[in-house]
Amino acid sequence: MSNKFRVGILGATGMVGQRFIQLLEDHPQFKITALAASDRSQGKPYAEACTWRLPGELPSFARKLVVQAPEPPLDCDLVFSSLPGDIARETEGNFAASGYPVISNSSAYRLDGDVPLLIPEVNPNHLGLLDVQRVNRKDSKGFIVTNPNCSTIMLALVLAPLHARFGVTSVIATTMQALSGAGYPGVASLDVVDNVLPFISSEEEKMESETVKILGRLKEGAVEAAPMQVSAQCNRVNVSDGHMAAVRLKLARTIGIEDLRDALSTFSALPQELRLHSAPERPIIVRNEPDRPQPRLDRDAGFGMSVSVGRLMRDSVLDYRLIMLSHNTIRGAAGAAILNAELLIAMKLLK
Ligand code: NAP
Repeated sequence: MSNKFRVGILGATGMVGQRFIQLLEDHPQFKITALAASDRSQGKPYAEACTWRLPGELPSFARKLVVQAPEPPLDCDLVFSSLPGDIARETEGNFAASGYPVISNSSAYRLDGDVPLLIPEVNPNHLGLLDVQRVNRKDSKGFIVTNPNCSTIMLALVLAPLHARFGVTSVIATTMQALSGAGYPGVASLDVVDNVLPFISSEEEKMESETVKILGRLKEGAVEAAPMQVSAQCNRVNVSDGHMAAVRLKLARTIGIEDLRDALSTFSALPQELRLHSAPERPIIVRNEPDRPQPRLDRDAGFGMSVSVGRLMRDSVLDYRLIMLSHNTIRGAAGAAILNAELLIAMKLLK
């Protein structure tokens, strides 16, 4: 008999939902037993409801699973959610109230004071908020853990070792975000071919508010936001996968570029120590070539779970600058949520 956790995917037919199915196909700890999406897809076998958009075949185990409504009860032990933000609040809340652990990608609960906004390499101790959640939401028999926005994850992951060693005081990030970040069908081709769109709804606000929560300190049952200024500008560019950001930073003390390089390239944390299945060997890969990282060449680094960083330089305005890149539907979404769930198992918070 399989001793894997049985999981349901909410939003299973979308860009992130498809990644969940791909990444969980041979996962040693999880087995997909339920899929849910909108009424457009409900009642159909997954192969009929979903137009598979990822390279390779739709995994055979999922083909015949019938897509259900995203409502409890579902035949699973926990749910991964990749529902649109506007419906996620009520739906994820219902699952948590009905006793399901909800591992969410959506923005609905990220900034709630009693919900961990988790990056296992950065703030595993924020799982302490689950004790607060249990007290605050007495009627809920389950719980909610979220992962950050796709651009925020790479920013916070790169800032974490720098903040720990040198103190980060100011950050300016300008993103160049891939089309798959807008879901399917996403941005109309006529809007984005030969073009750059300088607006992604709510993205700048998410990067600014989520980063200081993730890097904040858990103190007496609440996260105290990290004392740093974060300013973000987000652009949609004509790239299929892989979000990039040009980042400038000010640190609390003056260091050499070699110190910066060393802090980033030697970074290793709890998921690496615990050898979690989806943890990359190196969470941050520093590239020394003058023209890297690039989306097409570097988004799959560490099976899509490593953030690539390059062009480390001094900056005449904010002291230091660099370019970062990560895979938005893997480290920025499905892979992040799966790593969160693996950490929950390791911490004995999933039973
Ligand atoms: P998507 O491709 O548009 O997929 C949306 C999914 O939600 C589909 O399965 C869709 O089902 C389902 N859905 C839509 N409306 C629904 C409703 N009223 N009731 C039930 N299900 C409904 O979007 P996505 O890119 O996968 O993003 C999903 C979530 O992840 C969003 O909250 C997004 O912000 C977040 N996220 C995305 C990325 C990324 O890189 N794409 C990264 C991080 C976080 P049908 O196919 O049946 O319509």
